[in-house]
Formats: sequence, C-alpha cells, structure tokens
Amino acid sequence: MSHRPHGGSLSVEQDVDLAPYNTYGLPGRAAFLTCVHTVGELLRACEFARSRSLRSAVLGAGSNIVIDESGYDGLLIVNRIHLLERREKNRIEVGAGVDLAELVGFAQGQGLAGLERLAGIPGSVGGALFGNAGAFGVQIGELVEQVGYVDPGCRERNADPDELAFSYRGGAFKRGELTGVIATALLRLTPASPGEITSAMEETLAARAGKHPAGASCGSYFKNVEADLIEPEVRARLSAWITFNRIPAGRLIEEAGGKGLRVGGAVVSAHHCNFLLNEGGATGNEVKRLARQVKELVRDRFEIELEEEVRYL
Ligand SMILES: Cc1cc2nc3c(=O)[nH]c(=O)nc-3n(C[C@H](O)[C@H](O)[C@H](O)COP(=O)(O)OP(=O)(O)OC[C@H]3O[C@@H](n4cnc5c(N)ncnc54)[C@H](O)[C@@H]3O)c2cc1C
Repeated sequence: MSHRPHGGSLSVEQDVDLAPYNTYGLPGRAAFLTCVHTVGELLRACEFARSRSLRSAVLGAGSNIVIDESGYDGLLIVNRIHLLERREKNRIEVGAGVDLAELVGFAQGQGLAGLERLAGIPGSVGGALFGNAGAFGVQIGELVEQVGYVDPGCRERNADPDELAFSYRGGAFKRGELTGVIATALLRLTPASPGEITSAMEETLAARAGKHPAGASCGSYFKNVEADLIEPEVRARLSAWITFNRIPAGRLIEEAGGKGLRVGGAVVSAHHCNFLLNEGGATGNEVKRLARQVKELVRDRFEIELEEEVRYL
C-alpha cells in the first residue's frame, strides 16, 4: 500500500512478520509497518496513524524489546532516519535511525571523544537515547545537548537535557514523561587524538568480547540494582558484589539459583545469568514467563525486586 499525505509517498506494509525486526527473533505480526528514512516521512507516518485512529509504536533495531506473539494491531514505525554531520564546537548531529556503531565510528574518524565506551552496544541511536544506553560507567545521555522528536500530535519538538532527565538506563521518554518518536540528536563531544580514541574503543571491545553469551537475546534483561535504593541491611549483606554503586542483576540471579532455568525455548544463560536467551522457537510469552520466574527467585532469596531493562511490545 502506498499513501500520499501532503505530497511524497509513504510505504506502509500490512500484516508484517516481526521476527526479522527483533534480535530475539520472536514471532508476531504488525497490522501495519512502515520504515521512515527522514523526519518528513516520520511526520507522514504519524499523520497516517492519526487519520486512521491507529495506535502506533516505534522500533529501532529491536535489540531491547520483547515482541508479544499476539502481534501489534496498530502502525509500527521502524526508525531509519539517517543523518550524521559534524557541527561547530565539537558537536555531532545524528539521526535516530543511525546505527550506534556507525555513530561511534564517525566520532572516531572526526577525532571526537566521548562515545568510545559505547562501542559494541547494538541498536539505533534512537533506542540508545530512549534507554540511556551505556557501558563501563558511561551513558549516552551525558553527551546529549538536544533531542528532536515528533510528539503524538505529529508536531516537531525539541527537548533539552533538563527535560530529558536521563537516569540509569532511563530518561523522560522511557519513564513516559515525554512521549513521541525521537528523530535527531545533537551531541557534544571532546577533541582527542585519534590514537587515544582508537585504543579506548579497542579496550572496550576487548572487555566486551566473551562477556556476552552467543545466541539470540536482547542483552541484559534486568537493570543492575542501584545499591542506594535497597534496604541498608540487605546492602550490607551484598556489599562484596557492588560495582559502580550497583549490584549486578546477573549475580543475583545466579546466586538465587536461576542459572539454566527454562520455559519452552527461553532459557537463562549459563554463561551470564542476566541474559535470557531464545534457544530456538521461543515466544514472547515464554520469555515473559521465564522473566517472572527469575524475578520470583530473586525476590524470595534477597528481597530485591528486579526491574526490566527491556521493553514489551
Ligand atoms: C548482545 C547485546 C548486548 C547489549 N549490550 C548493551 C550494553 O552494554 N548497554 C546497554 O545499554 N544496552 C545493551 N544492549 C541493549 C540494546 O542494545 C540497547 O538498549 C539499545 O540502545 C536498544 O536500541 P534499539 O534501536 O535496538 O531499540 P529497540 O529495541 O528497537 O527499542 C527499545 C525501546 O526504545 C524505543 N525506541 C526505539 N527507538 C526510538 C525512537 N527513535 N524514539 C522513541 N523511542 C524509541 C522502543 O519503542 C522500545 O520501547 C544490548 C543488547 C544486545 C542484544
């Protein structure tokens, strides 16, 4: 189907298999799906949904999402907005559909530092901004000067760091305080020698290698637990496990006996217990049931409530 609001065409497919759109490879179908490559197309997609009273949702690379097998009955917007330009005063303007790896490589080529610790994180820039992706104590939100987005009324808006209010693996968008589709971002970086940037990236990639289990996943399923937010008595008991002021969720799951736990095709990785893998043929429902069992184990053993880092569609 081709739709032409306000000139230009928007390609909208119907009844689309979502398995290729999520790194878990989970089954499910979208009633409508469109890939947007420009802000103009994003605005048209928004109008398309609004004019038909369809609900809509956005996907980047699908590396942090669990798809429900009942599918999605609205319009799924796949963000492929591509823009990658150096701006004055060591800034980079980037489209939300750009692969995070491409952005990291671009900054490296420009002699701009700040993103090296994010090397190796899969996904789009939009997904990274939504969830404040990070690793080794660095999070993308720290570099953001402005985000451009399209609100549910199909208007272009900007948000500054105060409004974006990034937090550990979260921010105003993830918490629902801001709604809409992130389209672009302006990042402020720091000049550095290409050699320094390259060695920091190599160090990061080497530290990641072998840390993550092979197999279909969406990365760490649960957030690491902020040490300051748990009961002092529990914190004191687990103090040996605290790193970067957080207790690794994988450690809690392992100690609670979650290693290898399985529901259908979904299994807790024996290599890294915060990875819930699709070993083949798992459904979103199986992944969710496994996640519930894991939460129960950790609650019973440590009186700690794990919180999902992943999102459910
Ligand atoms: C092997 C592996 C390792 C990983 N390692 C890390 C890691 O070290 N650190 C880390 O932080 N994460 C990690 N992740 C998780 C994942 O890579 C990140 O969360 C990533 O930023 C998600 O981006 P995405 O484009 O795939 O988002 P998606 O999975 O497509 O979407 C995730 C959520 O973001 C929303 N979203 C996506 N794009 C937009 C947009 N443009 N506007 C508004 N909302 C949007 C979606 O609606 C959804 O709710 C890992 C994942 C895997 C599979």
